[in-house]
Amino acid sequence: DAKASGRSRWSFFSSSMQEQVLAKDKLSRELRHAIDNDLLDVAYQPQISHDGRQVTSLEALARWRHPEMGAISPVRFIPLAEETGLINDLGMWILRRACRDADQWPHLTIAVNVSPSQFKHPRFVEQVLETLETFSIPPQRLEIEVTESVFASDEHAILTAMKRLKDLGVKIALDDFGSGYSSLSYLRKFPFDTLKIDRCFLTAFDDGAEARAIVKTIIALGKALGMEIVGEGVETIEQLDFLLENGCDRIQGYFIAVPLTRPRLKEFLVVHAEDIAAQKHTASNAQ
Ligand code: C2E
Ligand code: MG
Ligand code: MG
Ligand code: MG
Repeated sequence: DAKASGRSRWSFFSSSMQEQVLAKDKLSRELRHAIDNDLLDVAYQPQISHDGRQVTSLEALARWRHPEMGAISPVRFIPLAEETGLINDLGMWILRRACRDADQWPHLTIAVNVSPSQFKHPRFVEQVLETLETFSIPPQRLEIEVTESVFASDEHAILTAMKRLKDLGVKIALDDFGSGYSSLSYLRKFPFDTLKIDRCFLTAFDDGAEARAIVKTIIALGKALGMEIVGEGVETIEQLDFLLENGCDRIQGYFIAVPLTRPRLKEFLVVHAEDIAAQKHTASNAQ
């Protein structure tokens, strides 16, 4: 009897594992199809300057609406793309789309997330340059975001690619700083322009002094190394005030805006500009 139940348990596991493999296979074929047929999309999340006056940048975030399953989170399909080798094509699709759209906001920097395996691709730097040229985007307007996982792979290749991009004027941001296994020595070794503090420190914010101390220290460290600091995942006025008091340069998060479709972004930019104009008007009347 034990043997029988053992066998049935085994067949249960093996069939569900098989189902998982098949489902993953199906999903990755559908993702391939979405990349090839322009069925992906990009949402843009604004970043504002520390004084709140300027929208400085937009982070491009991949979106995929599956015909049956609806919106699938990038937290799910980006790792799938990385595993199945689709990430290079997916990443180039996002970059091209972001550069094409960037034409509409000539005064804004566009931040694009790049996976380590894209960085290791021998033609990555050329592809980025070709894309910038195709859409007449000055390299200074592109910021490439990498996470700490970039340090786990071929350090030399990545460092070389980063330096080439940087020499051309492209900015490099370290995303989700503090969430991975960063060693401080990497901050010296890699030419980051920007440091994005991981959201988890802000989420832990209300728990007490530790998270605040860490945020404060990250800002001070980044500034001492000449980097611009972005606070991301800002959801409350308390978080915003704390970041600003401690010298954070740029703010991104639901408190400012969620990632937006292009029409919604257009509205956001108009309303933001009107708010600023109204504040200026009030200020000059008060004088
Ligand atoms: P990320 O690059 O750190 O992007 C920020 C994520 O935090 C986005 O999630 C954004 O919607 C979310 N977020 C922004 N503000 C807030 C906030 O105030 N509260 C909360 N709770 N969340 C906030 P999203 O769009 O789901 O993307 C998740 C991750 O997927 C990204 O994290 C990035 O690592 C990856 N990803 C997205 N698009 C791409 C892409 O085109 N290429 C690559 N390689 N990765 C991408
Ligand atoms: Mg990012
Ligand atoms: Mg991040
Ligand atoms: Mg992330």
